[in-house]
This record gives sequence, structure tokens and C-alpha cells, in this order.
Amino acid sequence: MHLSTILSDHKTMYRAGKTMTHTYRIHQLQKLKDMLNRNEKRIYQAIKKDLGKSDYEILMTELGVLYSELDHVIRNLKEWMRTERVKTPTTHKGAKSYIYKQPYGTVLIISPWNYPLNLSITPLIGAIAGGNTAFLKPSEFTPNTSELLAEMIADNFEEKYITVIQGGKEISQELLELEFDYIFFTGSQKVGQIVMEKASKHLIPVTLELGGKSPVIIDEDAKIPLAAKRIAWGKLLNAGQTCIAPDYALVHESVKDEFIKALKNELSSFYGEQPMEHPDYTQLIHDNHLDRLAKLLEGENVIFGGEVNRDNRKMNPTLIDEPSWERPIMQEEIFGPILPIRSFSHLEKVVDEIEHSRNPLALYYFSENEQKQQWVVNNVSFGGGSINDTIMHIGTSHLPFGGIGASGIGAYHGYESFRTFTHRKSVLKQTTAFDLSFRYPNSKFGEQIM
Ligand code: NAD
Repeated sequence: MHLSTILSDHKTMYRAGKTMTHTYRIHQLQKLKDMLNRNEKRIYQAIKKDLGKSDYEILMTELGVLYSELDHVIRNLKEWMRTERVKTPTTHKGAKSYIYKQPYGTVLIISPWNYPLNLSITPLIGAIAGGNTAFLKPSEFTPNTSELLAEMIADNFEEKYITVIQGGKEISQELLELEFDYIFFTGSQKVGQIVMEKASKHLIPVTLELGGKSPVIIDEDAKIPLAAKRIAWGKLLNAGQTCIAPDYALVHESVKDEFIKALKNELSSFYGEQPMEHPDYTQLIHDNHLDRLAKLLEGENVIFGGEVNRDNRKMNPTLIDEPSWERPIMQEEIFGPILPIRSFSHLEKVVDEIEHSRNPLALYYFSENEQKQQWVVNNVSFGGGSINDTIMHIGTSHLPFGGIGASGIGAYHGYESFRTFTHRKSVLKQTTAFDLSFRYPNSKFGEQIM
């Protein structure tokens, strides 16, 4: 069927009002949860085929987070949907003021390959909770997961309510020509720009969940062995193919040697001396990605790792010492298991360092000093982050997740997803019992205030 015909079926379904009730939305969210539950085995198989992720990573970063997000939304949706009564100023005497939570209508969700289930279903949960119908366009680079998503959704939901459209950038661009009511995009900055430009044609509101270079700062008073362990974990998760992976490290010069030694230990302890031979260490998505990463190492001072295995598309965890900001490794988002390390002498200097790449999506700061922690939070611009940890701020439905400026527009997760996928419609209900005359041009009000 033609895309515009499916869209018009969605719009008809939406206008019929079925998605407006709490009961309907909860029922759909339950169905989504049951769908995941029943298909767990196939989900593990598909993601494993696409990315070679381990069971433990699939459970932790794909299925587990979805179950807890679904439970959180199901538990709180009634409260979120409630019409809010707010104050009315005395200038509006007799009136009452309300905020209604209105769905947008039919939304388009475009997702990337790195967490192919999570980054498709988490926004979908928000779209359903908000009372919308949805199109979902998963990535062409995870064909097994995208195919399974299409099959599961078709088996469990009406096509005019949720439709999965598979394909690459051509199909994505076709979708972007259509008049959706909202677009939720997760992916690269480059494609984010295209999405925003296309959306501007019909003035469609967007959420952009993009990438960028996220720093991790290790200060002189950090607990170095623990910092090294948590940084190694955050970097090696999904072989560094995580939008909020620590992209590069800024370490205080007085603890640099100690940090590098501890980090090397941790990098070898998770998957052994040759992680690229370990079945649980995630693959790189495709050959081009591996080639790009290997090229980034050219001319750099590699102090650990650097080996690649082209047969299974894996790269050993790699450390680079003091690359300059002019080098490609410090210009591009790395998105792989390479960590460049630069040193600093004063905390104030890290702000200048970080400003080399605009608006990081995430920032991590390791220090035992609360004043310095607060200073970093107050003085550096970033989407969100963790103090004394990496990645973990994404795994909670209570914190909004999103970027700032070049790393994204808008946020989601938990209540923020509901808010993202609903319009807050303001309505003032005026009384007809009386009519204050001072607003009218022929009233005496003007004369009174002279
Ligand atoms: P991508 O931007 O190449 O692709 C994302 C989606 O856009 C895919 O579905 C793809 O088919 C589609 N697409 C690709 N080119 C297009 C075009 N020219 N026109 C229209 N649509 C197009 O991103 P990716 O390689 O799949 O994912 C990696 C990027 O995503 C990284 O930059 C990463 O930081 C970012 N990311 C961000 C988040 C976040 O939550 N902020 C999460 C994961 C990944």
C-alpha cells in the first residue's frame, strides 16, 4: 500500500477518537509488554544476529529498560492525562483556566541501529501513552531486528494504529515528505539536520535525539580504580557504539599515569587480553564502520590495543595518548571502542577543552569534591550526565533524557515521553454571568488610569 494511503488511514483512525481514552492506551501498552514477553527468544536471536550482543547486554540495555519504562508509564498514565486546573489572574475575574493533554495525531518515529529495539520501542511507548497513532522506521543496518519488529507489530496492532516501515534513507526521505503531526528522530547530527529541514516545510514539531562527543573528566581527587572500572564499562558497552559513551577522557595531570594503568587493567579484565576474540564482546555494525575507526588511529599515539579482526568485525579496546584537537579522532564522534586521553592542569581549563566540540550529549565527572561537582554542573553545557559514573543516567524513567543544541532538541523517558508526545492545550473558560467592561475601548478604564 502507498505510504500516503496508510497515513490517511491513520488520520481517520485518530479522528475517530479511539486513542483518547486511558483504558485504550493502557490496553495497548499491556499488549506491547506481552508482545515483548512472548517474543523474547526471537528478540535475543535477532539482535545477536545483527550486532553480536551478549545476552546480558540485550537484557540490560534493550529488554530490561523497556519493561521498567512500560511499568512506570502504565502506573502513572492516569495521573499524567488528568486535565490540570491552574490559577487565573484577577484581570480575568469569573474565568477558570485549564491545561488539556492533547495528542498530536499521527507521529513518525525514525530510529538508529545501535540499540535497535530500545530506541524504537521507547519512543513508541511515549507515542501510545500520549494517545497518538504511529509510524516506526527502524534502521536498515539491523535487518533481523527490523524485520522482527515489523512482524510483531503487525501481529499485535492494527495497521492503521501502528505501522512499521522498513527501508533505508530513501524510504526515510519519502516518509519525511508526508504531513505527519510530529517527528521523533534518533540518529546522527547530519541526518538530524535533514529531518529538521524537511519538517520545516510543513512546520512539523520535532524531537531530535542526536550524538556528539561526550567527555569524561577524571579529577585529581577521584577514586581512580573505581573511575577506571566505570569508564571501561561505559566505553565497552555495545563496543562503544552508544550515543552517550564517554567519547574522550580529560584527566588531571597528577593522576594520569595511575588512571591509565587502572584503565588498562579494567579493559583487560572484562573480556580477557584479546576482547575481539570473545563472543560476548559486541561486533561493529558494518565494514565501513570498522574501516572508519581503523583510519582514526592512523598517526595517533596508540598506547593500548589498536588491533582489529576483520573476520568478525571487532576491534580491541584502544587508548590514544594526547591527540590534538585538530586530529580527526578529536573532531568526529568516535562511536567505537577507542578512548583518546588528554590531560589538564586546572579544572577551569576543561571548559575550554570541551568547547572544541559543541554541546556534548553527555558529560561524566569523577571527583569526591561536591563543590567541584557543582561547579562542573553549573559551568559546562551538556544534555545530561552522571557524577562518578557513566551511562547510568539514561537507565531511569525519572530523569528526562535528551541533548542540547547540536546534540539534540527535546527529551523523553517516563513523564517526559508523555509530555513530548502531547500538546499542552490551554483553555480559559469564561463566565457569562457578568462582563467586566474595562477591556473595551469605550470603557472609563483608560480615563481612570490617566
Ligand atoms: P543515522 O543518522 O545514519 O540514521 C538514523 C536513521 O535515519 C536510520 O533509520 C536511517 O535509515 C535514517 N537515515 C539515514 N540517512 C538518512 C537521510 N539522508 N535522510 C533521511 N533519513 C536517513 O544514524 P545511525 O548511524 O543509525 O546511528 C548513529 C548515530 O545516532 C550516532 O550519531 C549516535 O550518537 C546517534 N544516536 C543518538 C541517540 C540519542 O538518544 N541521542 C541514540 C542512539 C544513537
